[in-house]
Amino acid sequence: MRKVITFMGVASLSLVLMLSGCGTKALPTSAGQQSSPVYQRTEVITSPDAAKKLLDDGNARFTSGKTLNKDFSSTRRMDLEKNGQHPFAIIVSCSDSRVPPELLYDEALGDLFVIRVAGNVITPVELGSVEYAVEHLKTPLVVVLGHEGCGAVTAAVQGGEIPGSISSIVEKIKPAIDTAKASGKTGNDLIEKSIDLNVQNAIQDLLKSPIVKHAVDTKEAKVLGAKYDLDTGVAQWYTE
Ligand SMILES: [Zn+2]
Repeated sequence: MRKVITFMGVASLSLVLMLSGCGTKALPTSAGQQSSPVYQRTEVITSPDAAKKLLDDGNARFTSGKTLNKDFSSTRRMDLEKNGQHPFAIIVSCSDSRVPPELLYDEALGDLFVIRVAGNVITPVELGSVEYAVEHLKTPLVVVLGHEGCGAVTAAVQGGEIPGSISSIVEKIKPAIDTAKASGKTGNDLIEKSIDLNVQNAIQDLLKSPIVKHAVDTKEAKVLGAKYDLDTGVAQWYTE
């Protein structure tokens, strides 16, 4: 169940952030006054479920138009350089400019480890990036984020001549299309079904990695799929 945060003012915002495990601080303005509270995650997230809730909360803020004030100051950048990164989620998403993970999940510097590739496919290069974050950064949640109306999947469904290296992406998407066609889907339903199955295939590709599978088996990490709706802005989980 998605929790929708409503902000009634500074006091309730601070309370919400405390409850959700986020810290806030007010940065002084140039005039020496206090600006609005600034979101800043202060603790390391190690639970997959806690990471999932943070994404749910962030997407709810995004869709309600009540995104948090982020700290992009030099102080925050230096803090992240000094203390290193501890992203709580790895997001494998499409390169589509309408699907930026940090924005649609309303997260800040250091929060998300993002791998973007057209069609959110997993090749050895993407897999290596995920393995790095799982193994070395101990990031507890991996999300493959597909999206409605994906151009890469649509192109693969429509077929025809594919120029340049785009064919390497199309080849990765084809198995999902074959399965979707076998289920009798046509037209836009075929595209959307192929998008869904393409996410599931990417998840299976991730789970073939001994590093990822070990983290999942020991419950240190979860691998989940989600689909982003372009107009509502909702990132909906596929059933676990
Ligand atoms: Zn796409």
